[in-house]
Amino acid sequence: MATVAVAGAGPVGLMLAGELRLAGIEVVLVDRLAGRTGESRAGGIHPRTMEVLDQRGLMAEFLAAGRPIQAGHFSGLFLDFSGFATRYPYTLAIMQAAVERLLEERAAELGVRVRWSTEVTDVHQDAGGVVVTVRTPDGTERLAADYLVGCDGGRSSVRKLAGIGFPGTPATMTALLGDVELAEPPAEPVFQKRREHGDFSVLDFEPGWYRVMTNEYDHVADRDAPVDVEDLRRALIRIAGTDYGMHSPRWVSRYSDAARQAERYRHGRVLLAGDAAHIHFPAGGQGLNLGVQDAMNLGWKLAMVAGGHAPESLLDSYHAERYPVAERVLHNTRAQTVLGHPGAHTEALRDLVRELIDFDEVNGYLGGMISALDIRYRVADGHPLLGRRMPDLDLKTSAGEVRLYSLLHGGRPVLLHLGDHPESAAALTGWDDRVDVVAARCPDEQMNVPMVGEIAVPAACLIRPDGYLVWTAEDEPDTASLRDALTTWFGARRC
Ligand SMILES: Cc1cc2nc3c(=O)[nH]c(=O)nc-3n(C[C@H](O)[C@H](O)[C@H](O)COP(=O)(O)OP(=O)(O)OC[C@H]3O[C@@H](n4cnc5c(N)ncnc54)[C@H](O)[C@@H]3O)c2cc1C
Repeated sequence: MATVAVAGAGPVGLMLAGELRLAGIEVVLVDRLAGRTGESRAGGIHPRTMEVLDQRGLMAEFLAAGRPIQAGHFSGLFLDFSGFATRYPYTLAIMQAAVERLLEERAAELGVRVRWSTEVTDVHQDAGGVVVTVRTPDGTERLAADYLVGCDGGRSSVRKLAGIGFPGTPATMTALLGDVELAEPPAEPVFQKRREHGDFSVLDFEPGWYRVMTNEYDHVADRDAPVDVEDLRRALIRIAGTDYGMHSPRWVSRYSDAARQAERYRHGRVLLAGDAAHIHFPAGGQGLNLGVQDAMNLGWKLAMVAGGHAPESLLDSYHAERYPVAERVLHNTRAQTVLGHPGAHTEALRDLVRELIDFDEVNGYLGGMISALDIRYRVADGHPLLGRRMPDLDLKTSAGEVRLYSLLHGGRPVLLHLGDHPESAAALTGWDDRVDVVAARCPDEQMNVPMVGEIAVPAACLIRPDGYLVWTAEDEPDTASLRDALTTWFGARRC
């Protein structure tokens, strides 16, 4: 059985490990930490991330652990997701630690155990596979795998060991975060202010403690210097004039707006995902969302290739599709950082952007970008749905009423027939070991797709395991083009 080594058991490594196991791939998941720290950088997930989790049947647990809030934003300027055509038109407030716990539980159910205290220190690859050297409390060990994926965060060892460059723009500002107790907290649960020397937030995150964040735009701190609660206290006093009686820190961290991206996401048998592939200021809360969706894009492709079903070239579509998505996120976070600067000129610009966001089109455009509902991969020319996410339609099948996303729970591609021409099902002969075929009726003739609008429900469509559409027919299916799409995405026909 093919084996994939995954370095890093953060949210992205966990998501990827689950995806690979779901497709029957052996996974070795290592992390240099001794165990979970309980720390949470991210505090929320966005609509498209919730949709991909729903495509694997995971949303009930996530909804139980989180709280829907209307809190999408662009540089702190409110974006309204409530009118978006999705079952999840909001941000789910959920701590990163809870996301990791749920993804680890899912990976464990599928048979993946994290090997803690196991740090990747060297990588060697050749035509036959990858040898990953790890340091453990018992010494050095060599792990053999067919592929290695570095999900080992912004300072990724895998990226460096594979010799993949990480160009971008350096830090221009300094941000601090602390989860602390406050003797004199502000009255409002979400207290965010912009002042002469920067901006700060005091968020009543969970009972008993607050998340305090500061952004200072007039200096860049040494990223390797130690940081503690006194740094946060001084920054808060500089900006807000008070420390709100801060004490008993659980966690203090420093970060910046350095924005860098791996020049390639694949070097032979080594791939990168999540923060290992891209870092940026957490403006708009996009990083974890971006990484989980990297894992969703890569998981099924790597499983197809490692399992011997599809050619290696399928892996190149991972870089081709995900690099531009992250490039755009880096771009928008740079813009958001500039919009964050203090001063009368920026305030004037913020007022103008706020007024623009009042227009539905602008709210839809920026919200589509932040929520990732607007993604369109370049899979083929033609129909406006090609390369976009398939909406979660209500369907009627011979087995009863189902939601479209439930058809994707197994992580397999789906050829969905909604019209009167099931002959394209016959075209599937030779791919039925890899692709599910489902005949159903959709009570609606039209569906609403972000960035497209109202559009006719297709008569048939081919949906990838990550929920994106790669072939569609409006009436009588063209079986030759269906076979082409099947070969491109899911490998050659088996006789
Ligand atoms: C203040 C702040 C707020 C944020 N808020 C949001 C938000 O609201 N929404 C959002 O989407 N994103 C947010 N983010 C971004 C988000 O936290 C990251 O994008 C996310 O953690 C990336 O996940 P990852 O799995 O790629 O990397 P990480 O979470 O960094 O995990 C990497 C793992 O790799 C391990 N590792 C490292 N080196 C090695 C090695 N050599 N061998 C083995 N293991 C190794 C580490 O121990 C770690 O467990 C925020 C970030 C910050 C700083």
